[in-house]
Amino acid sequence: MARKILVLGSSNVDLILRIPRFHQPGETITADNAITVFGGKGANQAISAKRLGGRVRFLSKLGDDSYGKSYRKYLIENGLPQKFLLKDRKFPTGMALIEVNPAGENRIIVSPGANGSLSRKDLRRFPQLWQGVNVFVAQLEIPLPTVKVALQAAKDHGALTLLNPSPSVPLCSDLLSFVDFLVPNELEAESLTGIKMKRDRDLPRIANRLLGRGVKNVVITLGPQGLFFKNTDEEFWMKAFRVKVVDTTAAGDAFMGALACGLSGGEPLRQVLRLANAAGALATTKLGAQPSLPS
Ligand code: ADP
Repeated sequence: MARKILVLGSSNVDLILRIPRFHQPGETITADNAITVFGGKGANQAISAKRLGGRVRFLSKLGDDSYGKSYRKYLIENGLPQKFLLKDRKFPTGMALIEVNPAGENRIIVSPGANGSLSRKDLRRFPQLWQGVNVFVAQLEIPLPTVKVALQAAKDHGALTLLNPSPSVPLCSDLLSFVDFLVPNELEAESLTGIKMKRDRDLPRIANRLLGRGVKNVVITLGPQGLFFKNTDEEFWMKAFRVKVVDTTAAGDAFMGALACGLSGGEPLRQVLRLANAAGALATTKLGAQPSLPS
């Protein structure tokens, strides 16, 4: 029987507004267009793993509102079990308001809503949650205490744990010691260690600092440069695939889903990282987050 991947994390509705320029307080401007898409790092990573053939459970919380209803329906249609998609009666579905100017720069406001109330108690509601799970995946768009307890529970159940430390928040060594694969991008790696990355040879130093805090393997994603891997036995760089980039949104989420999928299938590490590199590259060749996640 194929083993299961459990993804714990956020579901957000993204409202993307293309605007002529960033405006001043008190000023009203007109957007060129507005689109609503399903996003949130948790959902993106769960869908990425699912599209690549993983057996995925996604534990997430949505509001009891029209966005929550349509998002739940969409996740179920995408093959994620309904049972673990929780409904919060108090808070609305998480939202991100994303303004994009003509230079492609963005300003983002996130309202966590129901994601912010995904609690340790919710984890305890499902005694069968961990049954058959061999890979656990989390990010940091839900409360940190929930992530910590889940990482610990995953280890107790013998699962491999993957943490994408995004958005950046300080993490204690206590939490990091439950992490088998920590997967930050460059900025997240810098902010976790306080080491500025000026040249390639700073990467081993950054990774060492994280290994010293209890993480078992470090994978630093480097955008168009690919990735850097380090554990106590080996370290190596892996170049990115050359692609025609359209939009880099969710490259990191595609990468995480693929990493989870490959590790769950028990493939050799370099092969798994190559798959993740390919998924990340392919995600940059299409516009948007979830529409760009490869199958
Ligand atoms: P994030 O999206 O979290 O900031 P990165 O930008 O580091 O993360 O991208 C994650 C992964 O996606 C990279 O390690 C690489 O495999 C792939 N990737 C991202 N940008 C490109 C690119 N321009 N060309 C090829 N692959 C890319």
